[in-house]
Amino acid sequence: MARRNKLYEGKAKILYEGPEPGTLVQYFKDDATAFNAEKKDVIDGKGVLNNRLSEYFMSGLNNIGVPTHFIKRLNMREQLIRQVEIIPLEVVVRNVAAGSMSKRLGIEEGTPLPRPIIEFYYKDDKLGDPLVTEEHIVAFGWANQQDLDDMVALAVRVNDFLSGVMLAVGIRLIDFKIEIGRAWEGDFQRLIVADEISPDSCRLWDIESGQKLDKDVFRRDLGSLADAYTEVARRLGVLPSNVTHATKPHLIN
Ligand code: UDP
Repeated sequence: MARRNKLYEGKAKILYEGPEPGTLVQYFKDDATAFNAEKKDVIDGKGVLNNRLSEYFMSGLNNIGVPTHFIKRLNMREQLIRQVEIIPLEVVVRNVAAGSMSKRLGIEEGTPLPRPIIEFYYKDDKLGDPLVTEEHIVAFGWANQQDLDDMVALAVRVNDFLSGVMLAVGIRLIDFKIEIGRAWEGDFQRLIVADEISPDSCRLWDIESGQKLDKDVFRRDLGSLADAYTEVARRLGVLPSNVTHATKPHLIN
């Protein structure tokens, strides 16, 4: 059987040509990277969990009328998505100070923000994804003013949805990153949520204990990343039966 055409391989995912024009297959790897890939590891089962979690969040968004690239999950590690032209920006929404914002502005991690704050980072690994303003974005043609308005509206709706879903299972949504793409519908284009939504791209803290249930567990060596992601999936009721430590073939003696 002919191997599918690989179109792109990133740090945590691979994109293959899809079965129909305008579609792609997104494969979730077990690789974890942080600090611009200076820290790397393979976490058994992470890809399976993120495939499920991203399906859960993206299909929930589709159901409330927030357009995303997600079409359907194909198997344990792959999902069918719409092909989009990715806007070269990371859109970060913050509810509570943490990470780079705490460092940059000297605000203690865990300080609630007066309102959700939206930031844009220019996607460029060589530059370390620098923070940019709307002025840069429009002046350099990465997006126009209408796109910016649409991106902010999408980011706010994703924040409301994700915050609510997480709160219902005892988790605080501290911050998250989304990527947005242009999807063509005839002569019209609209902006839709793309890439993934998973604990790789969110900060999630247990409401009671403050325990971290996201990629900071890996970034800061706080324990087992697979256990943290499994806990998020378990609370949301999307835990696949044979995930994490059982996904590798076992030798039978
Ligand atoms: N984030 C991400 N990819 C990146 C940078 C950030 O998914 O390349 C997410 C990160 O997981 C967090 C939010 O965006 O949920 C804000 O990250 P921050 O700017 O604080 O950067 P960090 O401290 O992760 O370097």
